[in-house]
Amino acid sequence: MIVPKQVIRTKRKSIALIINSSGELIVRAPYVVGDSEIRAFVEKKQMWIKKKCSAVKAFDEKHLSMTIAAGETLVFLGNEYIIDILDGKQIVLDGNKILIPDDKNSKEMVVDWLREKAIILLLKRTDKYAKVMGVEPGRIKISEAKTRWGSCSYNNNLSFAWRLVMCPYSVIDYVVVHELCHIEHKNHSKDFWLSVKSILPTYTEQKNWLKTNRKLMEMI
Ligand SMILES: [Zn+2]
Repeated sequence: MIVPKQVIRTKRKSIALIINSSGELIVRAPYVVGDSEIRAFVEKKQMWIKKKCSAVKAFDEKHLSMTIAAGETLVFLGNEYIIDILDGKQIVLDGNKILIPDDKNSKEMVVDWLREKAIILLLKRTDKYAKVMGVEPGRIKISEAKTRWGSCSYNNNLSFAWRLVMCPYSVIDYVVVHELCHIEHKNHSKDFWLSVKSILPTYTEQKNWLKTNRKLMEMI
């Protein structure tokens, strides 16, 4: 039996079961519902809970730690590439394959390759959108961050995680525009989001993509 990791009481009207990104069960319940009623509800929904929890764990196993080996996959710009290991000195994309030299430091090579692609791409996109928006960012840094995709300092220095290069172009653009909008708005006010929306009218799609794919970004 899977029991709740946490029960959160709110003003809501019914009990809701949530499986978080760690595969744990969180219950949201109205103030008036007693513990025994929650327990009964959780018991009744065990099939559903088990199914959801194992789906989260299966996703983790596939994505959480990337293995560089033939047949494994690497995500680049939102696409999955099948890894092939061969003799050679450079990493090459070939159709839906990524060819990686047979080397004991292959993982470092892949990271360096991704970082290099990220630097070129992020500088280009930032430059493009800064011009479109008529703003002038300060320094642009490419960071090793795993949980924060971008930031904008008080002095308008921008920082972007190279791991963004695993996301689709549209998501990368969203993060770039988001940080550039912070040059004018140092908060997440209504005006801030309106300014994001004026550049990327469907930005909520990309914002949600980042939320659901957070795990993917932690895998390397
Ligand atoms: Zn922000």
